[in-house]
Amino acid sequence: MSETIFSKIIRKEIPAAILYEDELALAFRDVNPQAPVHFLVIPKKAIAKLSEATEDDQSLLGHLLLVANRVAAQEGLTGFRLVTNCGAEAGQTVFHLHIHVLGGRSLDWPPG
Ligand code: AMP
Repeated sequence: MSETIFSKIIRKEIPAAILYEDELALAFRDVNPQAPVHFLVIPKKAIAKLSEATEDDQSLLGHLLLVANRVAAQEGLTGFRLVTNCGAEAGQTVFHLHIHVLGGRSLDWPPG
């Protein structure tokens, strides 16, 4: 997988507002927030997009959801939305798997 800006954030080569970190995952605030609370949860493992995850990533993917839960609670969210854009057609711009977590306002459905 080619290098992305998120690899640099993982290596602390560029700054980010980090909310949570462990050996497998990192959560940090989105630099262009679309809601009062908007953070990203990423695996440290370089997976370009969800469709490239494999059976070997099963527990890692579950872990990312639990990190999302944990940081959402830390941020005081009682309701929140997870979004993963998979592929350019879906709006993915950074090709390192990430889960958007949005909250702090009411969210419309369906999304655009
Ligand atoms: P996506 O369009 O789903 O690939 O989402 C990529 C997200 O990464 C966007 O919401 C960007 O605002 C966010 N982003 C890009 N660069 C940074 C950065 N350096 N720090 C935090 N968030 C970033």
